[in-house]
Amino acid sequence: MITAYTLFSGSGGNCIYVKHGKTEILIDAGKSALSVEKSLASVGTSMENISAIFVTHEHSDHISALEIISKKYSVPIHITSPSLDFISRSSKYIQKNAVEHCVKYEQNAGSLHLSSFVIPHDSVQNVGYRITSDDGDTLGIATDMGHVTDEIKESLFGCRNVIVESNHDKDMLIFGKYPDFLKSRILSENGHLSNEDCSSLVCTLADKGTINFTLAHLSRENNTPEAAFFTSRNALDKCGFKNVYLGVASPCCAVIATAPAAYDKVI
Ligand SMILES: [Zn+2]
Ligand SMILES: [Zn+2]
Repeated sequence: MITAYTLFSGSGGNCIYVKHGKTEILIDAGKSALSVEKSLASVGTSMENISAIFVTHEHSDHISALEIISKKYSVPIHITSPSLDFISRSSKYIQKNAVEHCVKYEQNAGSLHLSSFVIPHDSVQNVGYRITSDDGDTLGIATDMGHVTDEIKESLFGCRNVIVESNHDKDMLIFGKYPDFLKSRILSENGHLSNEDCSSLVCTLADKGTINFTLAHLSRENNTPEAAFFTSRNALDKCGFKNVYLGVASPCCAVIATAPAAYDKVI
């Protein structure tokens, strides 16, 4: 079984830890190297055990720890060419560990297999990942999502666990204090996913077999964990998925993002 934690999640920094047997990897490394090291210690491991880092996109909340991590550790960093080109302008150390990929790629990491898919966002490139273990468990990751495409849905269909963006409550954003240009950016086709749009995606995915969701990348200004949770919870309940598990990632603490094997019997 795959075990995953969102180590921290949101515009302040993002990092997901994924473990399967002896294989341990990270998806993104935001905040600082020290934050990543401390968060890994909180789940009983360390950077020395991480065999690869997979990057979604080049926004600082996903990569700000990579420079120091690259200086201290020789862990391969899997990243798409457009994002690497962008980072390379200001980085000294990331290039030495970078493994450059085209946008849609497949990569093995120990007993895990990752395949990337395109996510529309206002970065030079953004990808999500479908992660499959050699014993058939699955985890999908999709954040920083301006809107949901057929490719995203199809890439996540049948994943047992899914970490998905539930960024903002539309009313909180529209009537909040952000400047108009920022509101337009977030609400655009290349911005971030609202609680409402997330709730519709989780129902679609629950119908295709997902039993465990973790809502991630919540806005601190324009959302609350309760608003995100109840929007998707109510939608799942209404669609008849009362037993599908729903969790919410924290901006600062590790939160388990995968269901134990026993949970399959409950569903
Ligand atoms: Zn982003
Ligand atoms: Zn982000």
